[in-house]
Amino acid sequence: MNDQIQFATGRAWLVFYLKKYRWQLMAGTFFVLCSVTFGVFVPRYVGLAIDGLKAGDLSYDKLWQSVAIIVGTSIISGVFLYFQRRALINMSRFIEYDLRQDFYGHLQKLPLEFFQQQRTGDLMARATNDLSAVRQIVGPAIMYSEQTLFRVLIILPIMFGISVKLTIILLLTMPLVSLTVKYFGHQIHIRFEKIQEFFSDMTARAQENLTGVRVIRAYAQEESEKRQFGRLNQEYVDRNLSLVKLSAVFRPLMQFFIGLGFAAIILVGGRETAQGRMTLGEFAAFNLYLEQLIWPLIAMGFVTNLIQRGTASLKRMHEIMAIEPAIADLREDGGKERRRERGIEGKIEFRNLTFRYSETTPPVLQDINLVIEAGQAIAFIGRTGSGKSTLMNLVPRLLDAKPGMVLIDDRPIREIPLKTLRENIGYVPQETFLFSETLAENIRFGVNGSNESDVEWAADAASLAEDVRDFPAKYETVLGERGITLSGGQKQRTAIARAVIRRPKILILDDSLSAVDTYTEEKILSHLREVMQGRTALIVAHRISTVKDADLICVLDQGRITERGTHEELMRLDGMYADLYERQLLEEELAAS
Ligand code: ATP
Ligand code: MG
Repeated sequence: MNDQIQFATGRAWLVFYLKKYRWQLMAGTFFVLCSVTFGVFVPRYVGLAIDGLKAGDLSYDKLWQSVAIIVGTSIISGVFLYFQRRALINMSRFIEYDLRQDFYGHLQKLPLEFFQQQRTGDLMARATNDLSAVRQIVGPAIMYSEQTLFRVLIILPIMFGISVKLTIILLLTMPLVSLTVKYFGHQIHIRFEKIQEFFSDMTARAQENLTGVRVIRAYAQEESEKRQFGRLNQEYVDRNLSLVKLSAVFRPLMQFFIGLGFAAIILVGGRETAQGRMTLGEFAAFNLYLEQLIWPLIAMGFVTNLIQRGTASLKRMHEIMAIEPAIADLREDGGKERRRERGIEGKIEFRNLTFRYSETTPPVLQDINLVIEAGQAIAFIGRTGSGKSTLMNLVPRLLDAKPGMVLIDDRPIREIPLKTLRENIGYVPQETFLFSETLAENIRFGVNGSNESDVEWAADAASLAEDVRDFPAKYETVLGERGITLSGGQKQRTAIARAVIRRPKILILDDSLSAVDTYTEEKILSHLREVMQGRTALIVAHRISTVKDADLICVLDQGRITERGTHEELMRLDGMYADLYERQLLEEELAAS
């Protein structure tokens, strides 16, 4: 797919793919032309046969000849119709695939803030409803437009050839039909839009409820949720019914107009024929041509609506595509630069670091100066909201600090390709997320070419192996929605195994053992430290017992490092850390007694 190109407009995006499939488009167009051309023979030979009958000089030979030509050209026209659909509708499916791939690929690159602001349901709606509306432009809309164009170009002159008068009458009444289609089509479109919008709201709501099912149960809100959903559901049906009301009127009205058209033609054409200005056969042929022309013209009314709807959807999709991926590599020339890239050692430095989430909000981190040598284990402790997670996010560049404030191996972090950086960091976020896949797949997530023994090694490093031994399917146990649910502590250790399997130079644990008891936590950590020796470790914790063996402990308070040192040094300092320690000691004693 196109990874590099960002399209200025939705239209440019679409044109790019139309160009990519230009051969298919041209072949499809050719097939449309052929199909229309061969379709022209049927009315003509029906007309000739009727004239022959009337004159009474129609021999069996001639009759069969006409029949053979009618059948033959119908088959040929049908075959081309088949290829026309194959070429053009296939093309629209390929383009749909490409657009979806682009869209999905782009979502992967968007900054995390984007996902915090967007509702998943809305994104899903854009990726499904809007995408299929866009496909209608490059598939059906193109096909029917071409069909109409060729029919008008080929059939109209033939009709003029039969009767100028009748054709002019036709040209005077046709716009009426087209206008009706356009008016109704527009009204239908408006109602349809509202339904789509509403549908997206309803799915978003259902999706949130299903995800939050625990909370709903716990607060006994099932009935009220059901009532609320019922209201949405009713509204959805009502809107659909109002659409049906309109479209139910529309079709009979269409039929009526067409009937009127035919009536006019019969009235005028009948007189013309009776007065001998036109043969009966020609008159019959004219009606058949009209039949061939009228539906494509009606279809044009729909096509305009397809295009309108598709354009609106294309705009909605492009709105997302236009958002710049926030965190990108400094140089995109890749290639040579990357080959010289030799991985990272693990030294981290924060230099006069100040960080705020947006220009208008106060800083969350302030004047952080800290050098972490490769291989050191550093712990961060501090009240909730003091900025620990924010600081951790800066290392794998999930958040970006201002240039020069974060350095890895004495290089500004932005100079290191993201891929290199992230391959060398094992990050365990504060909120564990596991996929609905097997345990093994969850552990080796994002690591290519890892085998079973790697998975087992990682599970052992995270002290998860013992738990797994009790699972019937071992590492093939399916997790989440479709399988068993792990305990909070097991989830956290799975996430740790996922981080260590890549044998990272830098390991970040953001409060990753909060769900296990103190004793187990100490055991897990000391085992992990053994396995991860020589690698830099950043450990965020709430409990002193977790951090007291670290090479350096930093106390964060309101975004600043207020105390730093080893456990002993901080105890001697007798500040916030010592205070916290005594309180936690007291709590433990109380719990034990
Ligand atoms: P905890 O111990 O509860 O995990 P923490 O020390 O990890 O807390 P952070 O998550 O770093 O705290 O949050 C620090 C501050 O930044 C908080 O005041 C929080 O409200 C704010 N904050 C966190 N994430 C965002 C965000 N995405 N946008 C804006 N503000 C945020
Ligand atoms: Mg946090």
